[in-house]
Amino acid sequence: MDRARAARRAALAAAGVQLLHLAPAAVRLPPLRRTVARPLAGYGADPRHIALTFDDGPDPRSTPYILDALDRLGIRATFFLLGAMLERAPALGRELTDRGHEAAVHGWHHRPQWYPAPARDLRELRRATEAVADLCGARPRWYRPPYGVLTAGPALAARRLGLRPVLWTAWGRDWTEQATGDSVYATARPGLTGGATLLLHDSDCTSAPDSWRATLAALPLIATHCRTRSLTLGPLRHHALA
Ligand SMILES: [Zn+2]
Repeated sequence: MDRARAARRAALAAAGVQLLHLAPAAVRLPPLRRTVARPLAGYGADPRHIALTFDDGPDPRSTPYILDALDRLGIRATFFLLGAMLERAPALGRELTDRGHEAAVHGWHHRPQWYPAPARDLRELRRATEAVADLCGARPRWYRPPYGVLTAGPALAARRLGLRPVLWTAWGRDWTEQATGDSVYATARPGLTGGATLLLHDSDCTSAPDSWRATLAALPLIATHCRTRSLTLGPLRHHALA
């Protein structure tokens, strides 16, 4: 595929994922998930591995509970951090990597970047990347744009900063007010197949208040599901993305 076609396809993919996030009920999820999200999220991944990813933290109100649950389950994950959140809880960023998890970049603020502002995009993404590197103690490799909207400015900024954009292939809709552990697991379940990238949230800063409790309750169910199918849950660094 030539570069222009690839760029167009990436833009369409980003637009499709945005629609899924903002209006999932209006979109037929399975076909889009297969054709749109997969090239950016799961293609080339280890067929016995599922990448477990959390967005929007670190949050002192919720992330410690998620970390404790992951310890109990013996699972490591990738956390896409917001610079603005990390600045308020720097020790939690370090704790996350000290406990074996992977820190990645979700941006500085949580907002879709619809309008071209390449200088601002680069400035904000660099600031977030440096905050993650400095405060978590490891240079991040992955970037997930807020709402899955990967427009040209952030895409170019990510490339300049050596970050690889990663979206997802499965989610638990854990950001909604109605979410429960059972509903998060039931929603994620069809997508919990080898090579998947699962999106969850360790903070409710952009979600319904306390929705992280549903995420927390879903973790043992998701872990059991994977264990009984001989699938390994782990961070993106073990996912062997092509
Ligand atoms: Zn987010």
